[in-house]
Amino acid sequence: MKSFVNYDSTSDFSIHNIPFGVAVFNQEYIACCTRIGDQVIDLATLYDYGFFDEIEGIDENVFEAYTLNEFIELGKPVTTAVRLKIQAILGEDSKLAEDHKTLEECFFSIDQVKMMMPVHVPNYTDFYSSIEHATNVGKMFRGEENALLPNWKHIPVGYHGRASSIVVSGTDIIRPKGQMKPADLDAPIFGPCKQLDFELEMAFIVNQHTEMGESISTSQAEDAIFGMVLFNDWSARDIQSWEYVPLGPFLGKNFGSSVSPWVVTLEALEPFRTTSPTQEPKVLDYLQFEGNKNFDIHLEVYLQPENGDQNLISESNYKFMYWNMAQQLAHHTINGCNVEVGDMYASGTISGSNRKSFGSMLELSWRGTNPLTLKKGEERKFIEDNDTIIMKGFGEKEGIRVGFGEVSGKILPAN
Ligand code: CA
Repeated sequence: MKSFVNYDSTSDFSIHNIPFGVAVFNQEYIACCTRIGDQVIDLATLYDYGFFDEIEGIDENVFEAYTLNEFIELGKPVTTAVRLKIQAILGEDSKLAEDHKTLEECFFSIDQVKMMMPVHVPNYTDFYSSIEHATNVGKMFRGEENALLPNWKHIPVGYHGRASSIVVSGTDIIRPKGQMKPADLDAPIFGPCKQLDFELEMAFIVNQHTEMGESISTSQAEDAIFGMVLFNDWSARDIQSWEYVPLGPFLGKNFGSSVSPWVVTLEALEPFRTTSPTQEPKVLDYLQFEGNKNFDIHLEVYLQPENGDQNLISESNYKFMYWNMAQQLAHHTINGCNVEVGDMYASGTISGSNRKSFGSMLELSWRGTNPLTLKKGEERKFIEDNDTIIMKGFGEKEGIRVGFGEVSGKILPAN
């Protein structure tokens, strides 16, 4: 498959991708869009020009919107048809290549647009599905013997996070303040977090509403998932370690999470399907699944000090996940919990088995005991003020590359 639009072979936004997002065009007009190479395509205007006329189920311009929710809610038959149509009209023999009026009206260079938060997120859940991450954190917080708690291999452990503070890539994050209790003090203190961290995660977005009492099975789950984004679940470790007993994460997590602006569909990720890790002991019936449910997506984290270079500090892969998306969604709804269009379900920190693949500063610096050394010799135990964290992710196989671009966020000093 080739396109008449030129792009570099290392572009995440090949013709195989066709992601969806929302952009401000020329600082004045907002619409849903897609991207190929460095061209962003205004789908609302493309709709007005009749390009989606033959697709059943779109009877009004759902792209004339500030979020993708209305489009996503149309469900897979429609969203898949739209994606295939876009792919076809971008093909190398497409008539669109000569249609200068449409090209001029609908195609914009990435520099001419500002990407917005792609969806309205009614609910956000964060899982804890990497066995390497859960084991590392368990070792640090509870010791080697109790690293993995008894429920971990039976339940995709998760908690309900805060949807209001999920922001799009490029949004600054203010260092949180809170209560901390350093080990050498008898009472807690208050102040700016000293152990600010990132968490390398991916999140999936649901395309439907369910009723209370309904469940989504592992075999139904992928039809209910529109696509995925990169997800940085910023974490204040010193606040977290004091507050998390007995109800889990709260202010150490809810001050901000950042997402990449392009939602990559599950269909675009098909070439990267791969086997899941063996689950032993065997999971309960409602968590069993058939087929390849993991995805081979290479992930990178960079730390960039103020006015400095990007330092690659972690390389991991989404395929390491012990629990997959289908199991997460089946578990989340097995009790009858209803889901909503736009809900975001994050994977939990994605760590691999060696230090270079750890998905958080907590693990990379082993709670500050083994600092990272950056290119210019600076050391980092955790994230410092004015540092920027950038995450990138892509699948690449047999000449097909499909990626997410990046999610970046800069830490500003506490208020
Ligand atoms: Ca997390």
